[in-house]
Amino acid sequence: MQHGTLSETAAVKSQVVTVIDFTMKKKNILIVGAGFAGSVCARILADQGHSIHIVDKRSHIGGNAYDVHDEHGVLVHPYGPHIFHTNSKRVIEFLSRFTDWRFYEHRVLAQVEGELYPIPINRTTLNKLYKLDLDEKGAERYLDSVRENRDPIKTSEDVVLNSVGHDLGEKFFRGYTRKQWGLDLSELSAGVAARIPTRTNDDDRYFADTYQFMPSEGYGEMFRKMLDHPNISVSLETDFKTVRHLYPDAHVIYTGPVDEYFDHRYGRLPYRSLRFDHQHLPDTAQVQSVGTVNFPNDHAYTRTTEFKHLTGQTHTGTSIVREYPQAEGDPYYPIPRPENEALFKKYAALADQEIDVTFIGRLAQYRYYNMDQVVAAALASATTLGEQLSA
Ligand SMILES: Cc1cc2nc3c(=O)[nH]c(=O)nc-3n(C[C@H](O)[C@H](O)[C@H](O)COP(=O)(O)OP(=O)(O)OC[C@H]3O[C@@H](n4cnc5c(N)ncnc54)[C@H](O)[C@@H]3O)c2cc1C
Repeated sequence: MQHGTLSETAAVKSQVVTVIDFTMKKKNILIVGAGFAGSVCARILADQGHSIHIVDKRSHIGGNAYDVHDEHGVLVHPYGPHIFHTNSKRVIEFLSRFTDWRFYEHRVLAQVEGELYPIPINRTTLNKLYKLDLDEKGAERYLDSVRENRDPIKTSEDVVLNSVGHDLGEKFFRGYTRKQWGLDLSELSAGVAARIPTRTNDDDRYFADTYQFMPSEGYGEMFRKMLDHPNISVSLETDFKTVRHLYPDAHVIYTGPVDEYFDHRYGRLPYRSLRFDHQHLPDTAQVQSVGTVNFPNDHAYTRTTEFKHLTGQTHTGTSIVREYPQAEGDPYYPIPRPENEALFKKYAALADQEIDVTFIGRLAQYRYYNMDQVVAAALASATTLGEQLSA
């Protein structure tokens, strides 16, 4: 077994490097961040005839969705597993301009007391865990008998107890949440747990969306095609703060952390970070039966993902990643608590006053957005903005 963070490998290298002479170029739109938010905005506005320059402080495009072949030739996601799913026809149609798709339905098992169970909790989970033989109606009745009525539902603990009761809550949710967020279920807004459904049938897919596909050649290739436009140029390893003065008249689309934009004037918005431990297992075709295994109660990491499930790649070895949640590091997850939302609102009020700046994306809007939600938001914002700028 070979260990190492991907940043230590030769694999995480920029595959798109465009050298820009800032003194020569005067772009009318400057985009900060080449993730989904920035790249979708760039393409929409470029198609409308605007001239776009993107800066990203990282050495690659794609933001957190970036993927790359590791040093063993396995396609991996350096910033954790990214599974695409959406109900939006508009989103899938837009992205289909830049990629073909591979059908993929993600499945997750949770290890509890040494056994693996489907998550989201479904009929199979209940029957295996409690040695029952429930049919669908029986599973419904079982959950009705164990759930604890909570009214009003304010926290994630309320959501969990109200839907699956104490024992399932302890076995599958409390420990995982504590690791993931460093907080108890009772300290998190209801929205966090509300994202995870409970089923009484045998559906063991993690997502139930209409469209569940992975870009057939990977996210990196999709982003390269999206940004391949004569009106778009990209500068990597470039921080917004170091180039902003070169674009005094440009409209700015900012997709970085909103508190950083305002120099943390009201204090830092809290984010949860992660450390990714990537490993390659040579001569191992497959190490786990599904894409992701969750560990709600064991280990310091929350989950292990085996990338070949997601990508369908054939390889003699396999590559996995373990996720260790931590307080410090890159901002990944806005922490959903009422006081953080209140702090964000203060920054949002400042953002509203910046007439020549559009704030969009997961960090700029301090919101837990999936990729498709970011794409939808960017499509809507960029289309309107482009029309305004053309008027
Ligand atoms: C571990 C993990 C797993 C996830 N899994 C899924 C999943 O399975 N399915 C799903 O739909 N979503 C998933 N997501 C969410 C997904 O990552 C986001 O929805 C998406 O990446 C948001 O895109 P974005 O453009 O808003 O932000 P980002 O992808 O974070 O892009 C922002 C970019 O801005 C750049 N930037 C920031 N500040 C500056 C600056 N000052 N100067 C220059 N550049 C700057 C950053 O370097 C970054 O590249 C996951 C997220 C995480 C953290």
